[in-house]
Amino acid sequence: MKVFISSDIEGIAGIVDWEQVRAPGVEYEIGRQLLTDEVNAAIDGAVDAGATHVLVNDAHRTMYNLRPGDLHHHASYLSGRHKPLYMMEGLDATFDAVFMVAYHGAIGAERAILSHTYNPAAVWEARLNGIAVGESALNALVALHHRVPVVLITGDEATAEEARPFMPEIEAVVVKRSITRFAAESLHPERACELIRAGATRALARAGAAAPPAIELPATLEVTFLTPDMAEMASWIRGVQRAEARVVTVTDDDPLLLYRSFVTIIALTRSIVEC
Ligand SMILES: [Zn+2]
Repeated sequence: MKVFISSDIEGIAGIVDWEQVRAPGVEYEIGRQLLTDEVNAAIDGAVDAGATHVLVNDAHRTMYNLRPGDLHHHASYLSGRHKPLYMMEGLDATFDAVFMVAYHGAIGAERAILSHTYNPAAVWEARLNGIAVGESALNALVALHHRVPVVLITGDEATAEEARPFMPEIEAVVVKRSITRFAAESLHPERACELIRAGATRALARAGAAAPPAIELPATLEVTFLTPDMAEMASWIRGVQRAEARVVTVTDDDPLLLYRSFVTIIALTRSIVEC
């Protein structure tokens, strides 16, 4: 049984500030240790449920946040920059389940720690088939293409809520309660890891009966940017339509192509973000 883990970082118990998730620094070193522990807990849970191969795709920022030697010895590690499928690189139809570990709420979520949607300096809102979404639903497009169910997500309450419209049966492990974008009440890291391990086991045990993400096709993605220039730039990509000054839409029958369009939009607009 093969498990694909997409690991972010903002959804870790105890993490509340950018300093804890951005290198270099003492706080970042603590943050990456906490991340390693939670990812390993998810792998332990997967192995408990019979996983024979686990691939961890590091999906945060530099995308080499884990110390390879500290990662669970059952897992292989996909890390580094310029991955064509970004947060979902490495997933294919041979996998039985997807875990999303240490995910976080969308930029527009009312109470969500360190909320953002891919790029907080560019994306004001993303909607999939009319529903405001975070990274979980966007990334689920790739899982849908390969017909692999997304069975586990960990993070705060907003993260869990956002996943449900398109992944109604997902096992959501909530490790903190966000008060604002920069304050949260977290479980102790050891408790968080216990819950993640147990949740991963439960999730994988049900994976055989789980359905791929429920995203109706053709699907339409609508992205609202901070500035009109970004929407203009995004519209240079074939198939991307300018809907309003700051809004573009793109529709596709193939969820993988839709995700690729989104990732291209993100990469392109990054060149004009300020500060
Ligand atoms: Zn993220």
